Amino acid sequence: NQKVVLITGCSSGIGLALASRIAKDEKKRFMVYATMRNLSKAEPLVEAAGRTLGRTLEIKQLDVCSEESIKACVDSLPERRVDILISNAGMGLIGPIECQSIDEMKTVMDTNFFGLVRLLKEILPDMKKRKKGHIVVISSVMGIQGILFNDVYAASKFAVEGFCESLAVQALRFSLNISLIEPGPVITEFERKVFEEGMKTDLSKADKVTADMFTNIYLKNYSQIFETLGQTAEDVAEHTYRIITMDNPPFRHQTNTLYTPMTTLKYADPNGDLPIETFYKMVFEHDKVFNASLNFLKLLRWRSRKSFTLEKEKST
Ligand code: NAD
Repeated sequence: NQKVVLITGCSSGIGLALASRIAKDEKKRFMVYATMRNLSKAEPLVEAAGRTLGRTLEIKQLDVCSEESIKACVDSLPERRVDILISNAGMGLIGPIECQSIDEMKTVMDTNFFGLVRLLKEILPDMKKRKKGHIVVISSVMGIQGILFNDVYAASKFAVEGFCESLAVQALRFSLNISLIEPGPVITEFERKVFEEGMKTDLSKADKVTADMFTNIYLKNYSQIFETLGQTAEDVAEHTYRIITMDNPPFRHQTNTLYTPMTTLKYADPNGDLPIETFYKMVFEHDKVFNASLNFLKLLRWRSRKSFTLEKEKST
């Protein structure tokens, strides 16, 4: 009795890694419908899926910004059944808000937040009827905590988190599960696209201090943050795979232990000042604090890799 998994945004990154990971489940417990907006971008997934294609994985078209496209995709599934929905499609946006148009911001909200809402409007009623289902949402640590120059992206992920937290109470009544996956930085196309768009930002509408902060502090350290803290898409996929195979999946799951000290700051101070002041020091006294923090994280990463290797050696 296979569970039907529907995943959005599978042409690259986390969605691609996730679709092929779940389809390769040793016990063949899942039938994966890996969806993407543009089917002409299916090649990397076809390659990653290998022999699972046509067996435990099928590729379908789905644009999270179109209700018709979502309906057509769900209608094409046997009995319209979705046991596990993984809402993954998303996009980023960085830069000073003075330099971004409202339309650009709306596209981010429309994809990251209303994309999820559209999916649930189509799929939730059936899940309620069956009293069975798991809704998994690829959120972000930025769904818990804002980050400099990610204002609108963080807002879109906060919207996702508030929406799911409200729905989760109702979901319990129908024995449905909701899980928010919260990765820190992940090295995917996302990072490259966001950075390239960021580099192209027309800063003429920003004052000198803001423009300088964005170019010489934020963009300059962007890649280093991903290099130091970044996880792979496969790693996030493995975490998510574990969550969908649990009997009692958690509501929230952070995938990157190197990042948890940052998110913990939020819960440590009910006034909310601690994380803001810490980020400020990291950014503006970065010669001292930022580099010290990065070096510390590099050390942690090296140690955790080392202990992982040791564990593996021990077990073999
Ligand atoms: P990615 O750019 O490789 O993947 C995003 C996918 O969503 C792409 O395949 C893109 O084509 C698709 N997409 C965009 N708009 C769509 C639409 N309207 N309909 C259908 N698909 C659409 O990046 P990723 O890192 O794999 O991102 C996946 C998710 O992970 C996103 O929700 C993102 O916010 C989240 N996330 C990423 C990071 C990171 O650092 N990369 C960190 C935390 C969370």
